[in-house]
Amino acid sequence: MEVVLVNPRGFCAGVRMAIDVVDQVLDLIPDETVYVYHEIVHNRHVVERFEGRGVEFVERIEDIPEGSVVVFSAHGIPPSVRDAAKARNLTAIDATCPLVTKVHSRAVRYARQGYQILLVGHKNHQEIVGTFGEAPERTQVVESPECIPHLRIEDPDKLVYLTQTTLSTDDAGVIIDALKEAFPNIKEPPTEDICYATTNRQQAVRMVAPQCDLVLVVGSKNSSNSVRLTEIAENVGTRSCRIDDVSELDASWYPTGDERILLTAGASAPEDLVAAICRHFVEEHGAELKLADIYEESVEFGLPLSLKKVMESMGVDHKDRKVTVEAPVITQGAYGATAVALTISR
Ligand code: SF4
Repeated sequence: MEVVLVNPRGFCAGVRMAIDVVDQVLDLIPDETVYVYHEIVHNRHVVERFEGRGVEFVERIEDIPEGSVVVFSAHGIPPSVRDAAKARNLTAIDATCPLVTKVHSRAVRYARQGYQILLVGHKNHQEIVGTFGEAPERTQVVESPECIPHLRIEDPDKLVYLTQTTLSTDDAGVIIDALKEAFPNIKEPPTEDICYATTNRQQAVRMVAPQCDLVLVVGSKNSSNSVRLTEIAENVGTRSCRIDDVSELDASWYPTGDERILLTAGASAPEDLVAAICRHFVEEHGAELKLADIYEESVEFGLPLSLKKVMESMGVDHKDRKVTVEAPVITQGAYGATAVALTISR
């Protein structure tokens, strides 16, 4: 058996920043309950670990006691949530990923310029709820090409599309092509909204999966980008399963024991879960570990302004504070064996 650890995988810059924000807030106010609006990132283990440290996750601002500290999750919030927090006199710290904020800003700007916005994404995903809320009267969500005939279009020459950051690039391409066919003058955003981390993780799977028998994606079921990774693998003809952790492995997925398994992780999945799966394959199946490095990532985000302001108000110097949550780095031993480089034909 071979286990191919594909890079990049796991935590993106936005997730590392959001987790770090909660860590830092816990350090700042150790004697108070920290509230987080919505799961800070869509990963069961991350949420449970914070719950173990006393963090309370809520889905309604009204459930937070007045005057408390609340952290907004990486997926972003609609302005109505920000207003509700203000009305309850909450100290709000915004851990929205800057790449999501960029899409919000575009929605506001295009709505002001009189455009109707066609927002490509999943209606109930927290990110789409947030972006939609920036200009609800000017925005319609497009989940698939089948939605297009039902859109209410005022002027086909005054349309723009925006996309959720964590879509499958395959699916988004199909929807965008259909939008362009239906509305040839639709405006494109100046740069791609599907983020670098989503694109890189998907492209790595797209390249390596055809050379593997099975693709395992570590991530939670509500993690959009994790689910999309399984779809990308299936699109190139390789069976794929998403698992939260090592306990969900099913030996019937690798019946012969000499399979080549691609192992990756969604942008919100902690690396220690990946390492535990590697150790299982090495110890139980004698697997060899291979590394497929497809892209280097060097994106980093600083601490959000709202957190810096809170630090200033408490007299805490934030000048040298950086996000400290690390991107995955293979360290000898942690994975049960030393991984060797795998050459991937491009
Ligand atoms: S997946 Fe992309 S948009 Fe989402 S948190 Fe990560 S970097 Fe930001």
